[in-house]
Amino acid sequence: MGGMFKGMGGMPGMPGQGSSKGHKVYEKATALKVNFKDVAGCEEAKLEIMEFVNFLKNPEHYRNLGAKIPRGAILQGPPGTGKTLLAKATAGEAGVPFLSISGSEFMEMFVGVGPNRVREMFKDAREQAPCIVFIDEIDAIGGKRGQGGMGGHDERANTLNQLLVEMDGFSTGAADVVVLAGTNREDTLDPALLRPGRFDRQIYVGAPDIKGRVSIFMVHLKPLKTDLVLLDLAKKMATMTPGFTGADIANVCNEAALIAARHDCKSVEEHHFEQAIERVVGGLEKKSRVLSPQEKRTVAYHEAGHAISGWYLEHAHPLLKVSIVPRGKGALGYAMYLPKELSLHTTDQLLDMICMTLGGRASEQIIFGKISTGASDDLRKVTQWVYGMIIQYGMNPQVGHLSFDLNQNPYIKPFSEQTSHLIDAEARQYVEEAYARTIQLLTEKRADVELVAEELLKNEVLTKEDMVRLLGDRPWGEKSTYDELVAGTGGDMEDTSVPEGLKNLKDELDAKDAAELVEEDKREKGTSA
Ligand code: ADP
Repeated sequence: MGGMFKGMGGMPGMPGQGSSKGHKVYEKATALKVNFKDVAGCEEAKLEIMEFVNFLKNPEHYRNLGAKIPRGAILQGPPGTGKTLLAKATAGEAGVPFLSISGSEFMEMFVGVGPNRVREMFKDAREQAPCIVFIDEIDAIGGKRGQGGMGGHDERANTLNQLLVEMDGFSTGAADVVVLAGTNREDTLDPALLRPGRFDRQIYVGAPDIKGRVSIFMVHLKPLKTDLVLLDLAKKMATMTPGFTGADIANVCNEAALIAARHDCKSVEEHHFEQAIERVVGGLEKKSRVLSPQEKRTVAYHEAGHAISGWYLEHAHPLLKVSIVPRGKGALGYAMYLPKELSLHTTDQLLDMICMTLGGRASEQIIFGKISTGASDDLRKVTQWVYGMIIQYGMNPQVGHLSFDLNQNPYIKPFSEQTSHLIDAEARQYVEEAYARTIQLLTEKRADVELVAEELLKNEVLTKEDMVRLLGDRPWGEKSTYDELVAGTGGDMEDTSVPEGLKNLKDELDAKDAAELVEEDKREKGTSA
């Protein structure tokens, strides 16, 4: 078949069929330079994974105790949180080969290709044992069987079956092959994959919290040339980047260096990092300002409405910055806030957030007497929150303490027609009340709205300090520095301790890292001398 298509001028997009990689579609690396110290902000996941390293290095220690070695683990979590990096670090630290493939590459339109690739890869892996096999996007093959799929669904089932057969085969062959897999949608995996002896460990790698972000910033700040104190900088940046993943942070650090280079600076400075964060959040600044003066005024008053309503609402998030510089991702302006780290919100907090989000449209209504399409994104958020409060969080007294799962079956509502009407009516009521409250607040504070909007038209960007200059301190105390945010959480850095059984390994790894640093130092001195 391959020959046939080659004859047709090498149809593109058919890896494995006459592609340059030959028939091997997986990548193989024998000496990876990735270490555990390159992965930060996910200590729990690292601990779990460290056990695999220990096992690959000292299998007898486990066998002597009669322990069965876990076959594999599924790393689950949002994209960019370091799943691939963790798998690589495991191979790097254990000093074993790393075979990786993406689940989607098993899926071809030809019958039999998928299972064949699985067979081949595992054959290779057994020859190289001890080694690590990493299957990214395992949901592409490991989705629940019998739920259909885009064509080739039998092929997928066959591929999955072959994978199961191979993994089961290990237990008899006792080859030291660890299979790691990555996915961001574990809920869709076939239960057969998660059975003991297969991927019996599921390791969740989530977005890092504020302490985790400090550690990740420390990793990615290291290679940059800057005169700033790294730890202070990392803490400040971690405070400003809630919700960022490791990949976002790596991106921010690199962007900052690029921005510094663009301005021909000798070292990366703090405002470069701030610009980089804005860029990662909002996209590129648009040079061509196609907004008419009237539109610009609308944007300024819209953003001022958000800023002022947030300023005077007790439970609204602390404001970081308001800007009316248009940015790539369709935003004409934005108000940047410091959201809470954890998603435990009370009704009051949610209602204040809804008011603040409606503040943009309310301000347009008050000042210009008409509204614009600029609020669609705000309204979408509000709708989501309001329905969430009623349907998921049981916060509405009329509907009661109920939580409905809408994802189970998209075609059948899990509640009656009557409840459905009630939910809609309550949702509308919440939004109407919130909007009325916001209108009232902003009518009272109209002078402040005008002050901030006019200043925005002049300067385009206002920071929190500017706001304090214009309005005085915010009436509600707020936590906004790193130390305030981590107060009472036991230490201000990530907990990196390990259990007894892994201490030896950790000491060994630390010693190796230290030795490497010394080596590097020597080399640098050698080259500079
Ligand atoms: P995933 O596989 O979870 O989608 P990756 O492991 O491919 O994410 O991460 C992409 C890049 O982001 C990495 O190469 C690394 O530079 C950075 N990164 C992600 N998570 C972390 C982390 N926890 N610590 C340090 N760097 C990280």
